[in-house]
Amino acid sequence: MYCPFCQAEDTKVIDSRLVADGSQTRRRRSCEVCHSRFTTFETADLALPRVIKSNGERQPFNGSKLKRGMLRALEKRPLSSEEIDTAFGKILTEIRTSGVREIQSIKIGEFMMNTLKEVDTVAYVRFASVYRDFQDIKDFSAEITSLSKEKPSRKKTKK
Ligand SMILES: [Zn+2]
Repeated sequence: MYCPFCQAEDTKVIDSRLVADGSQTRRRRSCEVCHSRFTTFETADLALPRVIKSNGERQPFNGSKLKRGMLRALEKRPLSSEEIDTAFGKILTEIRTSGVREIQSIKIGEFMMNTLKEVDTVAYVRFASVYRDFQDIKDFSAEITSLSKEKPSRKKTKK
């Protein structure tokens, strides 16, 4: 990389070591031209992507907003804070590892719905109803019907 002092192109790595439990590489560099020394840190680019809203507007990723939506769906549901945090962490990991710089808000909503579906069906339906903006009660009951079909049901057949 360029020397930050004289902009010379030739800088030499004189030391390289892992830091922060191996999640960072610290490099000591020396400029061949002005002999200045400086340090660089290399980390994997796992920053959260920017969010593309349905109207095309771009926004920085807002984790607390997403968490609020999740908590609203989980209100009065029997999930511990720890279980909620685990589920939320899973969503963040999915977003991060998707490796994109920009993500459609609809995609984030899908990650959320898939996760809620696994942890709490009621919260899933609540979130989906707001998120998908169900037009009428028909959509809603169709969604609930498809859910009850997915779950293995114990059938009591009466003759
Ligand atoms: Zn230099």
